[in-house]
Amino acid sequence: MHNDTQLVDITREIHPGMAVYPNNAAVVFETLQEAGEGRNGLSKVSLGTHTGTHIDTPLHIHAKAEGALVYPLEQMNGLCEVIDLSHVDSVITAADLPETTQARVLIKTKNSAGDPNVFTDDFVALDDSAARECVERGLQLVGLDALSIRKRGTQNQVHEQLIDNSVVIVEGVWLQDVAPGQYELLCLPIKWNLDGAPARCVLRTIS
Ligand SMILES: [Zn+2]
Repeated sequence: MHNDTQLVDITREIHPGMAVYPNNAAVVFETLQEAGEGRNGLSKVSLGTHTGTHIDTPLHIHAKAEGALVYPLEQMNGLCEVIDLSHVDSVITAADLPETTQARVLIKTKNSAGDPNVFTDDFVALDDSAARECVERGLQLVGLDALSIRKRGTQNQVHEQLIDNSVVIVEGVWLQDVAPGQYELLCLPIKWNLDGAPARCVLRTIS
């Protein structure tokens, strides 16, 4: 049987030296034991909950709230639209968002043209009007190719608006080689009930 669908990995590789958002923990890999002479290789990993490609959860903005387990797999997996806003210089507003048809939207920007191992302060992100527009469209999930969906240094309430309206935020997707269009999104966060959870995110092409 011939199958033309392809899987496109849009996950940042987690490794020491990768870009992390300011004040987040650096990634540390430690070898506990090397394989050989009857022993197995064993490693220890230290990383922040908002490392690389990850979801944000209610615990990220409220002290007493639900963690990553609050989001059903059905919400994070399914049809998805990738939109290309590479022309936007700095802030994505509601007016920048083209019409969309799916409940899950991933936003590709000039962030994906950069270096995934270097954090840059002037990344492109959403403002309040864009977050409000996502809520009004009834989106279930919004993803962006930056380590924060909100512009650094602004007082915008992007996380609050999305999370408090049950929209899953996926930060740090990597869309450099992804063409805009319709896909199936697979998004599987680590199963822990914390404020953030790194996720393996993959797009399946629709033939
Ligand atoms: Zn985050």
